Amino acid sequence: MPMFNKILIANRGEIALRVHRACKELGIQTVAVHSSADAEAMHVKLADESVCIGPPPSQDSYLNVAAIMAAAEITDTQAIHPGYGFLSENAAFAEIIQASGLTFIGPEPEVIRLLGDKVRARQAMIESGVPVVQGSSSAIPNEETAVKVAREIGFPVIIKAAGGGGGRGMKVVHTEAALINSYTVARTEAQQFFKNDEVYIEKFLKNPRHVEIQILADKHGHAIHLGERDCSLQRRHQKLLEESPSPMVTPEEREHLGRLATKAALAVGYTGAGTFEFLQSEGKYYFIEVNTRIQVEHPVTEYVTGLDLVKEQIRVAAGLPLAITQEQVRFTGHAIECRINAEDPERFIPSPGLITEYHPPGGGGVRVDSAAYSGYRIPPYYDSLIAKLVVHGSDRTEAVARMRRALDEYVIGGVKTTLPLHQRILRDSAFVRGRYDLNFLSRFLKRDG
Ligand code: ADP
Repeated sequence: MPMFNKILIANRGEIALRVHRACKELGIQTVAVHSSADAEAMHVKLADESVCIGPPPSQDSYLNVAAIMAAAEITDTQAIHPGYGFLSENAAFAEIIQASGLTFIGPEPEVIRLLGDKVRARQAMIESGVPVVQGSSSAIPNEETAVKVAREIGFPVIIKAAGGGGGRGMKVVHTEAALINSYTVARTEAQQFFKNDEVYIEKFLKNPRHVEIQILADKHGHAIHLGERDCSLQRRHQKLLEESPSPMVTPEEREHLGRLATKAALAVGYTGAGTFEFLQSEGKYYFIEVNTRIQVEHPVTEYVTGLDLVKEQIRVAAGLPLAITQEQVRFTGHAIECRINAEDPERFIPSPGLITEYHPPGGGGVRVDSAAYSGYRIPPYYDSLIAKLVVHGSDRTEAVARMRRALDEYVIGGVKTTLPLHQRILRDSAFVRGRYDLNFLSRFLKRDG
């Protein structure tokens, strides 16, 4: 099976660089696409070729399918890697790529479509024997049904958009009086954000942890899992710090969840890298969704397994079998990732602008995935993530110590970042003991902020 000669990377920032690096190590030429705001971006500088696909707004550039397909055509690209965000979970984009005779590096379009509809995904998981959060078995058609379902499962409940993602469009409702209004607002917002007004209802779990299983599946009917990531450190449903293994998950639970995820992946015909997200509450695990792309936090899994997930994605897309079997997966040590966003950590508002000074940390067991450099101007149009600082230690204690010293070494001048917030979290005694859940950060900010 021949490998691709050239891949177009339909993304920007650190993930575009991440994919570029995997391509280079596989001997593959890269094509960067960029908006006019990103002409000086690192992913453009490093790529073998680059094509400007439009003006700064994402809608006109990184989400502009026609311009991306034209760039693929003029550069004679064979495959397209979507990264995360933007078009990465867009089934229509994957279909257009296939119809043009190119390869989309990700699952089949119909699998993306199935799992991207969270109502249908829930149903598919139930059929595969995966436990889901108690809730509605289909989309909620009207207010009366919303009230009926909420009464059955009991308050508080969470209203979610079938087409939702990125932690947006969810509403927690504590009373019947609030439900009707929230239901109507949720549908209107879902239509606006996701162009699909279907919503469903789940029991809102108290103080859960977010535990997700990384899987890989090839086109030959093999699927493996690479253990879990704990992503409970979130604010406003957005992840800020991730680690693997989870301080809460036992080896038996890892095995069990891994088996559930790989079985469900095979049942829906999944191929490539994917993540099965679960919430853990009172010792039980409940499926919430599948992400059909490479995730921001994938490096922690790479550190503990020694695998390169992006290379595996590319190999699988080229039709090659998985490089290893489940029995060959070995978990070594502990990894933590801190997301460094260009934002005011007190108020969580973006802080774009010129990076006047940039010095990333180094040394053993430290990895920095970033497209930032001294003199780089962070444009205001896109995600505020500017770097992922990832460390690996022989155990959690060493990883925590290493992360503290790496955070202390990191110099980013000119813009506000989440570095000071991470420094405080890494010194919090509950965090250090691994005792934190999804509400940790809001409590922490109230207490220390
Ligand atoms: P998205 O696709 O927008 O990321 P998810 O369904 O993955 O939405 O949920 C994102 C986050 O929202 C979870 O990590 C968790 O913090 C919170 N959440 C989702 N469902 C529930 C629930 N049933 N109970 C409590 N928190 C939830």
